[in-house]
Amino acid sequence: MWGGEGLAIRYVYVMNATRPAPGSQASLREANRERVLGVVRQHGPLTQVEIAAASGLSAATVSNMVRELDQAGMVGLSRSIRNGRRAVLVSLASGGGLLAGVAFGERDVRVAIANESREILAQQLMPLQADHVADDGMERAARLLADLAETVSSGVEDIAAIGFGLPAPVDSVSGEAGSDAVLPGWRGVNVADAMAGHLRAPVALDNTANLAALGELRNGALRGVRHGCYLKFSYGVGAGIVLDGEVFRGSAGTAGEIGHVTIDENGPICRCGNRGCLDTFVGSRALISSLAASHGPLRLKDIVTRARQDDLGCRRVIEDAGRRVGVAVAGLVNLLNPEVIVVGGLMAEAGDLIMTPLREALDRCAIPSAAATVELRSAELGDDADIIGALHLASVLSHSKALSTAQAL
Ligand SMILES: [Zn+2]
Repeated sequence: MWGGEGLAIRYVYVMNATRPAPGSQASLREANRERVLGVVRQHGPLTQVEIAAASGLSAATVSNMVRELDQAGMVGLSRSIRNGRRAVLVSLASGGGLLAGVAFGERDVRVAIANESREILAQQLMPLQADHVADDGMERAARLLADLAETVSSGVEDIAAIGFGLPAPVDSVSGEAGSDAVLPGWRGVNVADAMAGHLRAPVALDNTANLAALGELRNGALRGVRHGCYLKFSYGVGAGIVLDGEVFRGSAGTAGEIGHVTIDENGPICRCGNRGCLDTFVGSRALISSLAASHGPLRLKDIVTRARQDDLGCRRVIEDAGRRVGVAVAGLVNLLNPEVIVVGGLMAEAGDLIMTPLREALDRCAIPSAAATVELRSAELGDDADIIGALHLASVLSHSKALSTAQAL
C-alpha cells in the first residue's frame, strides 16, 4: 500500500476527508508545506534563507509555511549561530516518537531504532535461514524492535513508524511482497497488515535495492544527484533508480530488476523461470559453482577475500562478473542517461577488481555520449545503506501521519 515517499503522501490524502482539489490554493499550500518539510528532512536543521534556496520557494512563502508548520507542531524553532551570525534554525519537531527500520537480507535481518532526526540509537543484526517463512521473519523482527525500543526509551509504544525492506519485488499497489521465484516464503503476504499483528506502528514497505538507493541519495554517494542508479551487487544483482532526485519505483514497484535482464536467450534457466538472466551468470550460486572444481566449497565472501589476496581463479570470476554486469548497466545507461552509478553490496568490496572491468564493459557497450558523462562511484554507506533508507521511509510515513492529523484538526 505504501511504496515510498510519493505513495506515503498519497496516504495523507486517504486519511484526510477534506482533501483539497488539485490545482486549488489549498492544494498548492499543502504541496509547499510538504516541500519545506522535505528539505528539512533531507538536510537537517536549516535557516529560512537556506530552506528558500534548497526548495526554490520564495522567502515570503517559506516564512508563511514555517509559521503554519510551527503552529501545527510539525517543526521546532531554535536559536543558533550560522556563519558567525545569530540565526533561527527550523528543524523537524521532536516528540513524534521513535523511527524503526527493518532490512531483510538474503541471510539475515537488521533492525534499528532512531530518533526523529534519524540518528541510529540502537541496532542489531540476526542471522536467518535462507528459506524462512514470512511469519517467522516478521515475528523475529518485531521482537528485536521491541527489545531495542526498551533499551533506548520506555518501550515499543514509542515507535511512530516502521520502514521495512525485503530483498524481493514489492508490489506497491497491493502492498504484497515476494514472488514464487524470489523469497517464496513471503509470497502474497501483505507486510503492513501482517506486522499490525505484532506492532501497532504503521509500516512502509519497499525492496532493499530501492531503500539502499534512498539511503545513498539522502546520506551517501548519490547525495545531490538528480538522475542516478544504485547497483546492489551481492548474492544477486538489483538496482535502485533515482529520477529527478526521487527513487523511481515504476507502476507497481518493480523497476530496477536488472538481475533478470536477459543476457543469453539460450542460457541456463533462472529462478524467475526465464532463460539466461544476468543473475544466472553473476549470482552467488553461479560464481560459487564455477569455482567448485578448482577451489572446493566457498562462500561468496571467501571469493571476494581471496580475490583481494590475488587468488587468480577468484580474481577471474570477479572480473568476468564485473564485465557481465557492465554490459547490462550499459543498457541502463542508454535508457536513462544517469549522471552517477553507485555500486554497493558484498561484491563491491572487491574494489577495482570489479569496478575496472565493469567500467570497461560500460564504455564499450553504451552509446559514447552517455558513457562519457556517467560517473561510476563506490557506495559510501556499505551495509548500512538499506537500514538508513528504511529509516528515511519511516520518517516520511511518520510525518505524513502527523500532517494528516494536523489537517484534520
Ligand atoms: Zn531471472
